[in-house]
Amino acid sequence: MSLPPLREVIARHGLSASKALGQNFLLDEQLLDRIARIPGALDGQPAYEVGPGPGGLTRALLRAGAQVTAVERDRRCIAALAELEAAFPGKLDVIEGDAMAVDEAATVPAAHVVANLPYNVGTALLVRWLGGEAWPPWWRSLTLMFQQEVAERIVAAPGTGAYGRLAVLAQWRSTAKLAMKVHRSAFVPPPKVMSAVVHIVPAEQPEGVSAAKLEQVTAAAFGQRRKMLRQSLKSVPGALDALGRLDIDSERRAETLAIAEFVAIARELSA
Ligand code: SAM
Repeated sequence: MSLPPLREVIARHGLSASKALGQNFLLDEQLLDRIARIPGALDGQPAYEVGPGPGGLTRALLRAGAQVTAVERDRRCIAALAELEAAFPGKLDVIEGDAMAVDEAATVPAAHVVANLPYNVGTALLVRWLGGEAWPPWWRSLTLMFQQEVAERIVAAPGTGAYGRLAVLAQWRSTAKLAMKVHRSAFVPPPKVMSAVVHIVPAEQPEGVSAAKLEQVTAAAFGQRRKMLRQSLKSVPGALDALGRLDIDSERRAETLAIAEFVAIARELSA
């Protein structure tokens, strides 16, 4: 199937990148195909793309054989995406709207999520998708482009400066990997910083732990990350007693705690 080059689609539909919508487009087909391969074989699988823009990544997902649902809030892109819907009959469903307002569990259950989003929207969606008490989640995998600095916080290990709430949230019941670094020059227009694609797959949730309790503990601990736990966890009822029962030295700082230790503290508080 021969589709017009993305640059032509962008010119014909007047899709000049909007700063306000955080638009930085990817046009390199080989790079887009590599990103679409990160979730694994997509042939016949449901994929959910957030922010398709002119449709470069959407094309790659369709080439991979996925059944794609895409949500885009920029009305200017909808006509360009309608051409793709026509070129891949029955394989692409475009929703015009804000991804924050989508009920994904009802709209795209068991989908592989793939997105190149403005980082603030991406982080807000990631936190929503990783949070909550319901597990396993509605999504099968997350393949998301972030600023490299944010990607590093998601996959960070204890004892590093990047380790914090996001790392614990992304790793306590999922595996999170940095799948690919993407140079700023790959985008049109190029953003100021480097980017990276993170790949997240759900794992088993540790027993007896409330996600809300874990979130409360990490928020307090990393909210004062330079302080000792006996100071930073003072505001969490029962947390200091839990440290004692678990034999975790209260003079340690949040950064030194393994994810399993945060989970153990949250379990004590969930009981
Ligand atoms: N996926 C395309 C690509 O890789 O070339 C476009 C990427 S661009 C960084 C981000 C896209 O997300 C834009 O098309 C923008 O309009 C869209 N977008 C931004 N916020 C959104 C939201 N809340 N809901 C849906 N789409 C959004």
